[in-house]
Amino acid sequence: MKIDHIGIAVSNLEEAIQTYETVLNTPCYKREVVEGEKVDTAFFKTGESKVELLGGTSADSVISKYISKRGEGIHHIAFEVDDIRKEMARLESEGFTLLNSEPKSGADNKLVAFLHPKEQHGVLVELCQSRK
Ligand code: ZN
Repeated sequence: MKIDHIGIAVSNLEEAIQTYETVLNTPCYKREVVEGEKVDTAFFKTGESKVELLGGTSADSVISKYISKRGEGIHHIAFEVDDIRKEMARLESEGFTLLNSEPKSGADNKLVAFLHPKEQHGVLVELCQSRK
């Protein structure tokens, strides 16, 4: 599985975009609000992978809650899969806990599913599949 992107939770998205444009020496190529998740996202290409900055759009956003509990930082690692339903079924049969039972719409035209961090040694894992 290729690492599609690393998701980083940030409290000030505009500031973080400036920072990552400098660090990665590449402009943000995409901004997108995911209404259902109450997150504002910004994407950067780096090599074969991407960095996704995530800012909450309201205090009850999962990202805002995450930051108030744990502070800013790496939020998740996303692996690209060809068939998300097949991978979800495989991992479920291996005893992993999926945080959503059906793939949901994520940023960047993806179908996404999350695995509980407890079973990945503290890392929130996202599976993502590009929509055809
Ligand atoms: Zn992501």
